[in-house]
Amino acid sequence: MHFFAPLDHEPIPQLQAIEVATYLQIPSFQIIGLPGPEVSEARERIRAAIDASKMEFPKRRIVVNLSPASVRKCGTGLDLGIALAILAEREKHQKGGSIVACGELSLDGSLHSAGRVTRTLFAAWKHQASKVIIPASDIHAAQASLSLLRESSAFQSPSPTLLTASSLSDAWNQLVGKRPSCSIVAEEISQAPLETNYRRADTSDHELLPLSPLLERAILASSLGSHHLLLLGPKGSGKSHALKWLQALQPERSGKMQLHHQLLAELRPSERVELNRAPFRRVGPHTKPFHLLGSARASSMKPGEYSLAHGGLLIADEFPEWARDSRESLRGPLESGTIAIPGAQGASSELPARFLFAATGNLCPCGGWPRELPLPETSGSGLPVPNFCNCSPAHRKHYRSRISGPVLDRMDIVLFVTSMPDSFAQKKVPIQALRERLSKGRIELEKRWGEIPGRLSAGELERLLETNQLWQRWLGGVRVATLRSRHKVIRLALTLAWLDGQSTPSSAHFAEAAYYRAETALTG
Ligand SMILES: [Zn+2]
Repeated sequence: MHFFAPLDHEPIPQLQAIEVATYLQIPSFQIIGLPGPEVSEARERIRAAIDASKMEFPKRRIVVNLSPASVRKCGTGLDLGIALAILAEREKHQKGGSIVACGELSLDGSLHSAGRVTRTLFAAWKHQASKVIIPASDIHAAQASLSLLRESSAFQSPSPTLLTASSLSDAWNQLVGKRPSCSIVAEEISQAPLETNYRRADTSDHELLPLSPLLERAILASSLGSHHLLLLGPKGSGKSHALKWLQALQPERSGKMQLHHQLLAELRPSERVELNRAPFRRVGPHTKPFHLLGSARASSMKPGEYSLAHGGLLIADEFPEWARDSRESLRGPLESGTIAIPGAQGASSELPARFLFAATGNLCPCGGWPRELPLPETSGSGLPVPNFCNCSPAHRKHYRSRISGPVLDRMDIVLFVTSMPDSFAQKKVPIQALRERLSKGRIELEKRWGEIPGRLSAGELERLLETNQLWQRWLGGVRVATLRSRHKVIRLALTLAWLDGQSTPSSAHFAEAAYYRAETALTG
């Protein structure tokens, strides 16, 4: 028997080997291989748990080595693996293959969850372990993880056998055959629970109040082609409502994307992982760059909001209020879809962070309604009447100057929202039909252009331009400040054309796409 436990210093989980040697010397118990404080404390839990399980703790000098010894080990999940390895060494059990164990022991020998179930199963399957043993309380999480791993086709080899145990003695008796094991393999999990486990859970968004036609078009384009969006407007203009649409229109996640998200989310112990939700993160103006980008230490990695939003939607509220360094931290993910986080000893880790970015902001510090616009009709809607803006022109100008710079240049659609949805007496819009239309659109666009327009690379766009003389002429006719703007206009024009039922964009689509550009929207 060879014992292993998951190791969390990289985005993709690895395994650490647990080796035990005993000597006929004065009894002692030592763990080497850079154990963190909770791993050192495991000695007391393990000694008490073995005693409480009516098994004999070896009266010898015991040395446990955690390999690779150069990486700091953390977490209480190592308890079970170390305890079983000591029992196997005492009994001189050679047979049994490689076993991955993860669970925390109590002093009375009972076994508790140490979290990170998907990471444990992933690492075990990847390294072709024969068995995985986890606490019985993790059984539902493990079944969901196994079906996720199977759906994402991450591995072609057969899955390891999954054993669950309620205590240390239960785990040991199953491994040595003293008790019939309750085992599960991924191939036995039927398709049925998968549908209920992962599919979209937000059934509340079946229908939504209507948006103004311009805003609805911008939201549909943003969701369809994955175009970053910035909505600016006074308080009460319906920006948050528009973002609800965007959230409801999010595409279904593939199993592969969901797996990626799950592996990262389990690295944040405080994170409540919900397998059945598409990645969606919402961040406010006071979120520090550290939390946005994440961190990497010698023992563990903590993904930030950007990585947790990978493959999904990241909503940034009150974007103009964001600190400069937080705004700047968006450059990497919006440009390349990855972030590099500095780790220990000068090393840096690259994490995926490709998401649809949608931000909102006020037009002035007070967020009031501009005096030059008529107040919206709110009677009968139950909404409060918005207040007029009281800021001085200088204040307003200074505030708007904050919404500028390189991040603004990376926005595809910048839109002023200064009108409420026309009438609240209007019927709600059913979202499911729109969702299906956009799913069909994404498939068609991917087939037509090789990728969703928002993700087409600069090289591919230039290649497309070379073969389309008309596009070049139309691009010459619109106001584009930078090379990036030029590419953004083409990408958005491709999406807008599909929305109008056309296979290629027309001059009107190029003009419309340029209208949404920041340089036009903020100065025009
Ligand atoms: Zn104001």
